[in-house]
Amino acid sequence: MTVYFIGAGPGDPDLITVKGAKLVERCPVVLYTGSLVPAEVVGRAKDDALVLSSEAMDLDEIIAVCKEAHDKGQDVARVQTGDLSIYSSLAETTRRLDVLEIDWQVIPGVSSFQASAAALGLELTLPEVCQTIILSRASGRTPVPDKENLKSLARHEATLCLFLSISLIRKVVRELKDVYPSDWPIAVVEKASHPEQRILRGTLDTITEQVEAAGIKSTAMIIVSKVLKEQDFNDSRLYANNFSHGFRRARVVEGES
Ligand code: SAH
Repeated sequence: MTVYFIGAGPGDPDLITVKGAKLVERCPVVLYTGSLVPAEVVGRAKDDALVLSSEAMDLDEIIAVCKEAHDKGQDVARVQTGDLSIYSSLAETTRRLDVLEIDWQVIPGVSSFQASAAALGLELTLPEVCQTIILSRASGRTPVPDKENLKSLARHEATLCLFLSISLIRKVVRELKDVYPSDWPIAVVEKASHPEQRILRGTLDTITEQVEAAGIKSTAMIIVSKVLKEQDFNDSRLYANNFSHGFRRARVVEGES
């Protein structure tokens, strides 16, 4: 018996992996995080499966569901939004399962930061412009360790993807303005990959007003990056004709051409 932690993807029910979908189809117990997991994903469960929303459950109750299934020898599909490696409570759950000696496994999913980049049609790492992505959140009710404060992260000028922060947009913009000029590019993607997806593109000066005017209050990704605007970048080495790699020999020798 195993508890499978399955990344459901960002909202579009087709964005779950084939492996994740197959597990939902065959597990006798399906426990999903109500609000953000699309109904169609859970709808793949067998007719006689026990399908439960964990929305109103606390950790003890979630563990109790796993324990009961374990005692009956039934596999559990624990379906959660996006990918389990980011803000998912995976760690606190699995350490409890370890104590109970219940096996578990993680099936990755498409994270909402990836779906947001896709919605924007963006490569988050542009050659020589930006080669690093920082995934973080603003400090609110859940504190962020001081060394990871937004200002210090912003100083890297890496692409910043902020989860769980849209209700703190004013604070986010205030802190970023201490580091960046006010025309620094920023975008907000609400409900990426859902039919009701909305995209706002702006600058540090405009975005708060845009978010407030649109009434965006949750399920949104904030992306702060030069790559939102930069057109002036070099081609990558990957497809350059003077660059050899494991699968292709250079056609033009470096220094010639
Ligand atoms: N594990 C999830 C993140 C869970 S935290 C993942 O990998 O995506 C929940 C936060 O994720 C939300 O506050 C929001 O910032 C972001 N989020 C989740 N789904 C989203 C979507 N479809 N579009 C934009 N942001 C989303």
